[in-house]
Amino acid sequence: MFLPKVDAPVNIPSRSTVKQLEYLGETRVNLMEYNSIDELLRNNQAWVAEKLALDPTYFEKLSSGQSPPFLYIGCSDSRLPLTNFTRTEPGELFVHRNIANQISLTDINFLAVLEYAILHLQVQHIIVCGHYDCGGIKAALEGRTIGIIDNWVNPIRELYLQKRDEIDALPTRQERLDRLAEINVVAQVKNLYQTSIMRQVLSQQKAPMVHGWLLDIRTGLIKDLNISTLQWQLYPCPLLLEFRLYTILNDEH
Ligand SMILES: [Zn+2]
Repeated sequence: MFLPKVDAPVNIPSRSTVKQLEYLGETRVNLMEYNSIDELLRNNQAWVAEKLALDPTYFEKLSSGQSPPFLYIGCSDSRLPLTNFTRTEPGELFVHRNIANQISLTDINFLAVLEYAILHLQVQHIIVCGHYDCGGIKAALEGRTIGIIDNWVNPIRELYLQKRDEIDALPTRQERLDRLAEINVVAQVKNLYQTSIMRQVLSQQKAPMVHGWLLDIRTGLIKDLNISTLQWQLYPCPLLLEFRLYTILNDEH
């Protein structure tokens, strides 16, 4: 069996990790301890052995295909593997992640994931999960010029500018950031309902249930925002409405 040689110091954050935290507006001392790259491979071998000890057919079953009940749309932040926070196993979550868990109607990557999840995998639930202490939210709220991420989070900055009176009235920076993170999840759930794929399955009454969550990185707990999606389910797509009017008018003649 291949066993990688350990020749690098362990449990020391790499310079690039520290740099990345600064890039996202973080300046705190990082207290996390990290595995070395060689440890990742050894951990993998140990995990496989544990799984096989519990169930010799585990990987045979895993490789037979996927039928996940959940699509998880989350932030790219390294602290948010939802599988750990929810004790879910490989095969349970279909995943799309990007900075600040955004749903963009022009993001072909996201739209392909969404279409595959809904039409082919037939997921029963879509979870849009933001989180507190999000670097993308900080970049949007504070308008720092730090590169391409500014372009990416600009829709969230627009949300902030729309709700500026409400957000700026909050007494602390943390409360302002937390509120924008919540507003962002609501906006992304709304965006989800604007996609043609969701429109299609809604009209067929086959749409999955949609949930807006926030993961509180400070406690590890998930908060369900209990977003009512009915308001967006009922809005007819303007193009569809136009098509119906056209059909009605033509039927009259
Ligand atoms: Zn984030």
